[in-house]
Amino acid sequence: MTPSDSASPGPGAAPSGERIERLGEQLAGRLVLPGDPDWDDARGAWQLLADQQPAAVVIAAGEQDVIATVVAARRLDLAVAPQGTGHAGGTIPSMRDTILLRTGALDTIDIDPETERVRVGAGAVWSDVVEAAAGYGLAAVAGMSPSVGVAGFSLGGGLGWLARSHGLAANSIRSLDVVDARGRPLRVDHARHADLFWAARGGVAPVVVTALELQLYPIDRVRAGGLLWPLERAREIAHAWREWIGSVPDTVTSLVRVLRYPPIPEIPEPLRGRAFVGVEVAIQGDADSAAALLEPLRDLAPEIDSVRTMSPAKLATVHGDPEQPSPAYGESTVVREITAETVDALVDAALAPSSDALLSIELRHLGGMLTPGRADGGAVSSIPGAGVVYAVGIVPSPEAERPVRAAASAVTGRIAPYASAVGVKNFSDDPQPAEELYGEATERLRATAEHWDPERRIRIGHPLDGPRSGAAPGAESSTRPEMLD
Ligand SMILES: Cc1cc2nc3c(=O)[nH]c(=O)nc-3n(C[C@H](O)[C@H](O)[C@H](O)COP(=O)(O)OP(=O)(O)OC[C@H]3O[C@@H](n4cnc5c(N)ncnc54)[C@H](O)[C@@H]3O)c2cc1C
Repeated sequence: MTPSDSASPGPGAAPSGERIERLGEQLAGRLVLPGDPDWDDARGAWQLLADQQPAAVVIAAGEQDVIATVVAARRLDLAVAPQGTGHAGGTIPSMRDTILLRTGALDTIDIDPETERVRVGAGAVWSDVVEAAAGYGLAAVAGMSPSVGVAGFSLGGGLGWLARSHGLAANSIRSLDVVDARGRPLRVDHARHADLFWAARGGVAPVVVTALELQLYPIDRVRAGGLLWPLERAREIAHAWREWIGSVPDTVTSLVRVLRYPPIPEIPEPLRGRAFVGVEVAIQGDADSAAALLEPLRDLAPEIDSVRTMSPAKLATVHGDPEQPSPAYGESTVVREITAETVDALVDAALAPSSDALLSIELRHLGGMLTPGRADGGAVSSIPGAGVVYAVGIVPSPEAERPVRAAASAVTGRIAPYASAVGVKNFSDDPQPAEELYGEATERLRATAEHWDPERRIRIGHPLDGPRSGAAPGAESSTRPEMLD
């Protein structure tokens, strides 16, 4: 919680004298105010480290509630922060004088098997969408975690198990239904409000999205899972993976990771309290060709091998991400190349004593359709690098935050000599400088935001006028800057 958040006066009267309570009377959903019995539930994010202190929360029941909220916010001189799940709750610097607009109830899923497209409400989560798509033999460019929201993931870029063959999720957005900062409902696509459509895909568009139309792909089976070896073999396995990815086609997306499972009952017995080096993989293709591709890795005799044939809907189980709200902090770095030197640096960092505070340190293989110039898209349609490192730890208590942050920073610091100039928005848990996320697109994004929302009415994660490059991580803008003192 920022000092400014804690000092927030809460909802007050507008200059006109109107009170926010009037908005509640206009909603099919609900207005929740500080002091209401369910205030903490309503303001809470999936990311439990984000102590969101808005002026009010609207739990929208549909598009009309979104319009009413934006219109009321204008009269009350408040901002509006749209949020589905709150997985990225830490990326909005402050919710002072802001209505938190929860979109979770906008969760319709309509699949058109003819066009192989799905129209989803902005509150839908991936687990529901991939299951529905699989019923038609179709797959979405979904995330590696079932509980992540389709809206935040896709608008933020979106890197999943089909990434090397189908690119970023943002490139699969075909149209958006939005409410703009003046409260107008708009359909946005290549032909209508093309500037907004460009900005929304991977960048920042100052609108509330109410629905997304996404392209699906005819994939009904994948071969996917994880191979695990004891941590002592980290260097050998990481280098073997590096050599292996040099020969795999774009239909293979994989990562190498070091995993330290905590000794808690939720973790199954063979893994509980142990540390591993793992390779996780998703392969499109028949079982025989997948087996042939995997042979060099299986020859290294993994202790656990869970790679099997599955529906693409089950891909979200491969990474083993938590499905319940969690307090986690992570940092990421895009690496220019995956060389022997890069891998050595990663393993050095992963084996350093400080990394005991982290749950996972991974390196995802990029390239393929993520390569700049390969795909047409919006503000961010590719990743200029060969891999992305993500180091993350669980923060079970306030005292644990400092060591987890320090450990994640130590990993990204060790990798820094190999870093690309641009980062990945979805892998940044604190607000990042716009130039580091959007590169050359930044100025055009700022111009688009100025045109559509000159009053900065809509508050989006990683704001364009957020921290400048070189600021200490979390400084000025972290949800919990006091933890760094
Ligand atoms: C456990 C875990 C696993 C993850 N795995 C992956 C992964 O494999 N690949 C990957 O790319 N990312 C991954 N992420 C990151 C995730 O994609 C981002 O945090 C994403 O922003 C979450 O979207 P959300 O809608 O669930 O979250 P929210 O916090 O609800 O939304 C995030 C942001 O999206 C925007 N947004 C959301 N809804 C709307 C709307 N209706 N209108 C306008 N803007 C909106 C806002 O800027 C909002 O601040 C993971 C995150 C977690 C916590």
